[in-house]
Amino acid sequence: MIYKRSSALFDEAKKYIPGGVNSPVRAFNAVGGDPIFIKSAKGAYLYDEDGNQLIDYIASWGPMILGHAFQPVVNAVIEKTKNGTSFGTPTEIETEIAKLAVEMVPNIDKIRFVNSGTEACMSAVRLARGYTDREKIIKFAGCYHGHSDSFLIQAGSGAVTFGSPNSPGVTKGTAQDTLLANYNNLKSVEDLIDANPKEIACIILEPVAGNMGCIPPTREFIEGLRKLCDDNDILLIFDEVMTGFRLAKGGAQEYLNIKADIVTFGKVIGGGLPVGAFAASSKIMSYLAPEGPVYQAGTLSGNPLAMAAGLAMLTELNTQSDIYDSLAEKTEYLHKGFQKVVDENALTAQINCVGSMISIHFCENEVNDFTSAAEGNNETFKKYFHGMLERGVYLPPSAFETYFLNTELTHEDLDTTIQAFADLAPELK
Ligand SMILES: *Cc1c(COP(=O)(O)O)cnc(C)c1O
Repeated sequence: MIYKRSSALFDEAKKYIPGGVNSPVRAFNAVGGDPIFIKSAKGAYLYDEDGNQLIDYIASWGPMILGHAFQPVVNAVIEKTKNGTSFGTPTEIETEIAKLAVEMVPNIDKIRFVNSGTEACMSAVRLARGYTDREKIIKFAGCYHGHSDSFLIQAGSGAVTFGSPNSPGVTKGTAQDTLLANYNNLKSVEDLIDANPKEIACIILEPVAGNMGCIPPTREFIEGLRKLCDDNDILLIFDEVMTGFRLAKGGAQEYLNIKADIVTFGKVIGGGLPVGAFAASSKIMSYLAPEGPVYQAGTLSGNPLAMAAGLAMLTELNTQSDIYDSLAEKTEYLHKGFQKVVDENALTAQINCVGSMISIHFCENEVNDFTSAAEGNNETFKKYFHGMLERGVYLPPSAFETYFLNTELTHEDLDTTIQAFADLAPELK
């Protein structure tokens, strides 16, 4: 395939935008080469600036669960725009989408809308701190909760006592309040709680991880976290920015049948417009301004266009009962096809799959936390990524991302994808 115009656009973009992109994952830094500029998209396909058609497994990093340019969402936004784009006052549609979200998601009474997943997680942690009157939080290596300061922390050697900043610009003071545990490792959480008695406000995690590739939680881990939180008056925050309205109508809480105390949303909830949200019981949410003392605000929060897109999306997900089964069936089909290619070619690879999330790690051992995910062979991944792209399959340009399937993918698209992998496999040994 030819990417001449994309490359020219990227050169121009780099002159005015740092790295040429407005979010680092869009650049191809992990795989090499220039990112592809997309001109339009419809259903399961992206169309780039050079006229190539690509089967899309990113779905705008999650939101396009019903495929691109989904007509009810497009129509809702067009209609809403005619009445003006923002008023800075309450509007009726905010209550409509809030009511629907509360109906769809278990264990929440009230929801506050923001503009991104980052904001949702940042605000959820502030609320947890205000509610518990404690300062420290526990997060897991490899889980991503947006780019606010508290979350950009990696393990120092003394993770039990202090975190160390992972990005310049994050202060030591902030880093100290974020304690780092290992995914699927309950003992690492118990140790942190023991070392910081009555100091931990919340534990935040991706209930099914997607930001180190797809990694499911073990039953023991997720149930153990719930119990640890109950026993120690710690709030359990499910970051469902990725899993919310994707794994099930009620997200990972429903899928795993585990109750969270605060839930955050993003991606699907905005139907492709900038929306995030956080939600909890009335009791916890009453701590939020203007009802309570924990401050949180947003000039464009609950923006009518964004709410119209989100409402159209959630309405569809709520009324079409077979969406999640059909997505899971397609993902399982892809999983089986990929596994067959792996087996027939004796590739060193692990495939993880949950609902409509799936990813492949080119490594020997089972992938169940960040350490095992990081063992993947990045040279093989690069060849795989570019080989698939050359064959018209657009995958996330990093081994630490999950694929997101959408309902518009046909079995023919999946067969094309599996065939591309089969053609490529001999080069990946
Ligand atoms: C994408 C993501 C975020 C951040 O959301 P943004 O809208 O990009 O700020 C937070 N948590 C998880 C689990 C995510 O996947």
